[in-house]
Amino acid sequence: MQKVVILGASGSIGRSAASVLAANPERYSVYALAARNNLDELAAQCELLHPEVVITASEEKFPELRQKIGSRAVTACGMEAMLEAVIHPEVDIVLCAIIGTAGILPVLAALKAGKKVALASKEVLVLAGELVMQACADSAGTLVPVDSEHSGVFQCLAGRSREELRKVWLTASGGPFRTWDSERIQRATVSEALAHPTWQMGRKITIDSASMMNKALELIEARYLFDLQPEQLDVVINPQSIVHALAELTDGSMLAQMSVPDMRLAIAYGLSYPARLSKPGSTLDLAQMAKLEFFAPDKDKFPALEFARTALQSGGTMPAVMNAANEVAVDRFCAGEINFGGIWRIIAKVMEAIPVEPQISLEQVLEADARARALARQLF
Ligand code: MG
Repeated sequence: MQKVVILGASGSIGRSAASVLAANPERYSVYALAARNNLDELAAQCELLHPEVVITASEEKFPELRQKIGSRAVTACGMEAMLEAVIHPEVDIVLCAIIGTAGILPVLAALKAGKKVALASKEVLVLAGELVMQACADSAGTLVPVDSEHSGVFQCLAGRSREELRKVWLTASGGPFRTWDSERIQRATVSEALAHPTWQMGRKITIDSASMMNKALELIEARYLFDLQPEQLDVVINPQSIVHALAELTDGSMLAQMSVPDMRLAIAYGLSYPARLSKPGSTLDLAQMAKLEFFAPDKDKFPALEFARTALQSGGTMPAVMNAANEVAVDRFCAGEINFGGIWRIIAKVMEAIPVEPQISLEQVLEADARARALARQLF
């Protein structure tokens, strides 16, 4: 029996994780659930999973949480409570699915305490990849990716020597604008950007999929997670979202990881690794699917992958700058301040304006993040 903490329990990944845990009560029990605002979801999960501790990241929401949870669990609030939960001696696995930079400290703490961290929060590796991988190497902690592409790479590389590997391919669905012309993409509306063809996900990541900034962030994550050189990383479009990643070996052999597009599979593997659960989701019927297509990404229509190249080559604080500019630009797009193409224009300007520094400390990465946000708010 393994004890789990879920950070970011009320989001799309957190809710899928709750359903995986609820389906496997003989393997997992929940020590703590944490979320920021959606206390009704936390209360519902408390009913379902019987955690010992329920945490809201927001101090303001604490009285409301206490009232909603009552005597069903210990209640707590704030970053301190999350840090305490992840290092608790009885805890085996920490699933981090917090949106934004708030996941970095709990992930570092959990790794240093020797926990297995199932990581879904992209920002953790994008901002602090060097620091996090160093913490992982220096401790008994292990890091297992929960993003579908990275879980795919992780599975393709399992038990394989590094000398065999030439390259890693992440797949992308291409998003809702794959077949649109440039001009129409520039003018796309929020609801058009939210109409993802294959994955059901949260709002920010769905817009990132439409702009392909999601893939840019994933390239950076993969670089740190698997310790790859920038030229060992590439992207291919698979509109069906059936192939999640490929490992290209030195002799030209390609290994693909395939499954139906269902996040519960990657979450279940993140929790169960190195074992596998027997029925985490539906299976793939290849004969029924009939068609599996691949395309090269269009770099002129979607400049996101070029931003990733720059960030990969520069390293240091540049991925943090790219990520911060994107977050602000997506917010401004959703608020109607800029058009869809404005997201890329803001990112390009911010990456050009803010000088790269080496990644020395979390404080300094967060400083670069703050500078990038301030500039992204003023542009256009
Ligand atoms: Mg992904």
